[in-house]
Amino acid sequence: MALLGAFVYCVLAIWCYCPGLGLPLAPPNSGTSAPAVGQFWHVTDLHLDPTYHITDDHTKVCSSSKGANASNPGPFGDVLCDSPYQLILSAFDFIKNSGQETSFMIWTGDSPPHVPVPELSTDSVINVIANMTATLQSLFPSLQVFPVLGNHDYWPQDQLPVATSKVYNAVANLWKPWLNEEAISTLRKGGFYSQKVTTNPRLRIISLNTNLYYSPNVVTLNKTDPANQFEWLENTLNSSWQNKEKVYLIAHIPVGYLPYSRSTTAMREYYNEKLIDIFRRYGDVIAGHFYGHTHRDSIMILSDKKGNPIGSLFVAPAVTPVKSVLEKQTNNPGVRLFQYDPHGYHLLVAVLHGDKYTYSPVPSLVTGSSSSSVNAPSEEKLMVVFEKATSKL
Ligand SMILES: [Zn+2]
Ligand SMILES: [Zn+2]
Repeated sequence: MALLGAFVYCVLAIWCYCPGLGLPLAPPNSGTSAPAVGQFWHVTDLHLDPTYHITDDHTKVCSSSKGANASNPGPFGDVLCDSPYQLILSAFDFIKNSGQETSFMIWTGDSPPHVPVPELSTDSVINVIANMTATLQSLFPSLQVFPVLGNHDYWPQDQLPVATSKVYNAVANLWKPWLNEEAISTLRKGGFYSQKVTTNPRLRIISLNTNLYYSPNVVTLNKTDPANQFEWLENTLNSSWQNKEKVYLIAHIPVGYLPYSRSTTAMREYYNEKLIDIFRRYGDVIAGHFYGHTHRDSIMILSDKKGNPIGSLFVAPAVTPVKSVLEKQTNNPGVRLFQYDPHGYHLLVAVLHGDKYTYSPVPSLVTGSSSSSVNAPSEEKLMVVFEKATSKL
């Protein structure tokens, strides 16, 4: 079985007061160029495996299967392998040919493959990121892309540093066509930045380097504010509040519990608590949270200290389908299109483009790790909570 021929289906999740898909991008005869609905794409976890090739010896199809037999390799990949270039191109071609008008794209990291550390190097990691950047820039020359660093966008993986490095410097140079000088400067120093969306002057993107808070990152052990990112984040949110801007927060490692887990956060608990505290205090400024890393299509609810919902967080599915031999389920490659109100920047609709048979958002709660809301409510209850949360945004 070849994995996927193309990204052809649309499945949607609609919530609260949203008018639904099919809403025109501009009201007919409105006489204004301002669209009624803004749109942007979210792509994540491309995980290119440059070694992928079809061969009779299924243990040698891709390095990312780590010697296991690929199950049924085709031109677009195999469930035990990371993405061949052709799968990534298929996703980008789908976006390009979709006919959707979008203001920008967010790209939440993880370009290199899942292979043992000795099989990569700083240079090979930079080469993969450069390849993906060049592909995006050549296919979408006039689209503003807001990238994020993932835990695999470094060598050795997960160990993103608190000061400038060869990788931070390389991406700062690669991503210059999309970012302004101030953004490039903080990216070079600590792997994070903020910048306003060119077409939406009151909307700011904050791209956080949450890999600094990732549990396996030993570089940041015992550091209270790695790269001074917390301080920078609070200052940035505060000035957005003063300037009446709204913020979309994008990052690779999400806050909250991992999918299918009720007690394990991806970040160290101290960092998770600290971020949740900031997100709660600036709940009126942050109009949306968008993450990658788990490869699972998920929705999470941010609650205040009393448990009242105050925000919604989205994790997009990966483009890579990869799973280990022991895992039962794979991720069907997907990309997501969001619709938003271009005046207040409330989110309206999230559309998944991928395989129509397996769309299954995994709702879970984002809480402080010491909170008592560890037991996830039923899905039905959660959707009620979710509607309340989004109606406040
Ligand atoms: Zn990943
Ligand atoms: Zn990751």
